[in-house]
Amino acid sequence: MPETVLVVLPSPTVADAPADPVRADPAVPLLRVDDLGVSRGDGIFETVNAVGGHPQALGAHLARFARSAAMLDLPTPAAEVWRRAVHEAVAAHPPVPELLVKLVMTRGVEGSGRCSGWVLAFPNADATRVRTEGVAVLTLARGYPADVMTTAPWLLQGAKTLSYALNMAALRHARTKGADDAIFVSSEGEVLEAPTSSVVAQFGDRLVTPPCDLGILEGTCQGRVFAWARGRGLATAVERLTVDDLHRAGSLWLCSSGRLATPVRELDGVPRTWDAALHTEVLAHLLTVHE
Ligand code: PLP
Repeated sequence: MPETVLVVLPSPTVADAPADPVRADPAVPLLRVDDLGVSRGDGIFETVNAVGGHPQALGAHLARFARSAAMLDLPTPAAEVWRRAVHEAVAAHPPVPELLVKLVMTRGVEGSGRCSGWVLAFPNADATRVRTEGVAVLTLARGYPADVMTTAPWLLQGAKTLSYALNMAALRHARTKGADDAIFVSSEGEVLEAPTSSVVAQFGDRLVTPPCDLGILEGTCQGRVFAWARGRGLATAVERLTVDDLHRAGSLWLCSSGRLATPVRELDGVPRTWDAALHTEVLAHLLTVHE
C-alpha cells in the first residue's frame, strides 16, 4: 500500500503514560484478533479530509471523537497526541489534492484495559462527479424513535462508533433500488441523517439541519456550511424536518468531510433541482483551507 501512511499511537488516551506516535508499515499485520474493535466493533473513529495538506476542521473532529468516547465509556482520547499523529500522517504522505485521514480508537485487546489507536492516511476518491451532478436518494426507516438517545442510550445513536455495518447495509439496500444514497427517518417519520453524511435543506434564505438530540452526528461539514452561510447573510437553523419538508426544500445537500456538499438530484424517485450558483459557492468554500 504505497499510497497509505499509518501512524500508531502507543498511548492514545489521557489515561496512558505519554509516548509519541510512531510510523508503521500499513502492509504489516498490527492488530490482535482479540482486539474488541475487531471482535465487537467496539470503538470509535473519525474521518478528516486534508485539502492541499491541511486537515480540515480538525478541532471539531477531535471534539466529536471525545464525545463518542464518552458515550461508549472509553477513556478520553489524548487530543494533542491525536492531533500530532494526524499532522505526521499528512506530512508523510505524497501530496494529493485531498487526503482522507482516518482516526480509530478501539477498546483494545479484551482484558488489557488499554485502547488501541492509529491514524491512516490515504487519497480521497475523486468525488467531482457526485459533487457536481448530485445523488439519487431513498428515504429509509432507521427503526428507532426520535427520543432514542434518552430512552435507549445503549444503542449509541449519535456516537461515531466502528459498528458501521448497518450504515453500509443501508447504502447497499439503496443501491439495489437504483439510488446512490439514503436518508434515515425515525419511526415517527422525522428526518435524521444519511449513513455517512448530514442532511442540509434550503428554504429560501434559510438553511436547516435536524437536531443532534434525534440521535445523529453533529456534522463537521454541516457546521462549516452553516458558518459560511451566516457569513454571506443566510439564516441557519437546527430544526426537526419531515420527508415532506425535504420535498418542499429548494436545494438539498448531503454533507460530509469526504464528499463535502453533495446535492440531492432525486428523492424517493422524485427529481429535484438545486441552486447551482449557491452550490458552486459552498463547494468552493469547503475546498478552501479551514482552521
Ligand atoms: N452522519 C453520519 C452517520 C456520518 O457517518 C457522517 C460522516 O461520516 C456524518 C453524519 C457527517 O459528518 P462529517 O461532516 O463530520 O464528516
